[in-house]
Amino acid sequence: PLPDPVGDFAPPVDEHPSKIAATLASLRHSADSRITHPRRFRVQQLRALEKMLDEHLDDFLSALNEDLGKGATEAKFSEVDVVRAEIDFALRHLAEWMDHTNVKVPLALQPAMAKVEPRPLGVVLIIGPWNYPLQLMLAPLVAAIAAGNAAVLKPSEIAPATSGALAKFLPLYLDNRVYAVIEGGVDTATELLAARWDHIFLTGGEKVAKVVAAAAAKHLTPTTLELGGKSPAVVDNQLPAVAKRLAYAKFMNAGQTCVAPDYVLSIGDSAPLIERLSQTIHSFYGKDPLTHPDFGRIASHRHFQRLLDMFEQGEVVHGGQYDETTLRIAPTIMRNVDLDGTLMQEEIFGPILPVIEVATFEEALEFIAARPAPLAAYLMSESPRLQSIFSDRVRAGAIVHNAPLAQMIIPSLPFGGVGPSGMGSYHGKHGFDRLSQIRSELSKTTVVDTLSAIYPPYSWAKRKI
Ligand code: NAD
Repeated sequence: PLPDPVGDFAPPVDEHPSKIAATLASLRHSADSRITHPRRFRVQQLRALEKMLDEHLDDFLSALNEDLGKGATEAKFSEVDVVRAEIDFALRHLAEWMDHTNVKVPLALQPAMAKVEPRPLGVVLIIGPWNYPLQLMLAPLVAAIAAGNAAVLKPSEIAPATSGALAKFLPLYLDNRVYAVIEGGVDTATELLAARWDHIFLTGGEKVAKVVAAAAAKHLTPTTLELGGKSPAVVDNQLPAVAKRLAYAKFMNAGQTCVAPDYVLSIGDSAPLIERLSQTIHSFYGKDPLTHPDFGRIASHRHFQRLLDMFEQGEVVHGGQYDETTLRIAPTIMRNVDLDGTLMQEEIFGPILPVIEVATFEEALEFIAARPAPLAAYLMSESPRLQSIFSDRVRAGAIVHNAPLAQMIIPSLPFGGVGPSGMGSYHGKHGFDRLSQIRSELSKTTVVDTLSAIYPPYSWAKRKI
């Protein structure tokens, strides 16, 4: 018989448990029957997810445009294609990931068989942010499905069109017994967090991460926390590609990317770099970026206002235009910034790039070391010596030389932070392992008792001593 499905949740106060509790109870009931375990089921669900993205591509692209003004090209490659790459990679490697590994048994324990095998965890709660509201819900879901888990998705209420599209289309493709989308804001998240989960996967900010960690502690639930921070870009060379790569990574999604270069540390005179950045912005987004279809908007009025306040904290040397009616802020470069203001104390998460001059590479390293460890640290330099010192000395979720953001789309690279920028990583096998229990199994026969030598009384040991 299947376990009591409601046993995991607080007893309902009346005869009618809330809709959330009922959904969770039924989901756990199905998950406990292990329908998510067979490889065939996982493959079928991953294919179904891919089919959903194919058949509703236009719906998702227009939802992303509605939520964040994302142009179709950018939305496709930075959201949909990243998820598709994760699905394809998982489909290609699933058999190998799921396979057990036999390990050597010490002579004293032989004959015996010992193996390590990844096992599903159970039911995973995935809470997502608004900035890549499709990718950051579905990439963790790919890992959850691949690892044989059931999952509940709680998309961000600040990207309501994408949240709505997920709630509408996902149930048409995935097995509703084990996958559900529950829409809502803080109240919904709070109710979800009160339940017992086998893993909670949050992508969001530090404040919410603390709420999630505290809720998880009540049930000793493991968590993955994908957070943010101020990812620095140290610029050592002035090749034309440097400004292009920086501007591309910074201004994609109007700077609302967790691994966007938050600020630049320019070694020596920053004027040539600023000049190149200005030209690049112009070549990317034209004379009037506020109306350019490839340049997105700010997610909410609150974030819009928060970013405008940052204009006061230094000298605007490029951009600075904004339009409150469309929530657009032009790509902006600032210098001579106040290191104690919100611009340099908080994650910027918008299209403002402060450029700070430092005299030496050493000074750049010290500047970074004096601040919390970010999600990524970028070095724009062709010097193997500087690259090697940078990787050795800088503490960050990822170290990238000359290709900011590109680390995100390589499924074999773990994606995650360290310290305040997060806990645990995913993508590819890292996500599969993160949402699996890596289980030990040992098997030995009793037909011949080869362990008899170790039983008490320990006269054999005393003889040796
Ligand atoms: P957020 O932390 O405000 O919200 C994330 C999610 O938490 C949303 O679904 C929201 O509804 C929920 N939430 C809000 N308040 C809650 C509460 N009190 N209890 C429980 N849940 C609650 O983050 P955001 O503003 O949506 O996203 C921006 C942050 O996410 C930035 O810090 C950014 O760096 C980070 N981020 C990280 C990554 C990554 O992969 N590491 C990616 C994108 C964004």
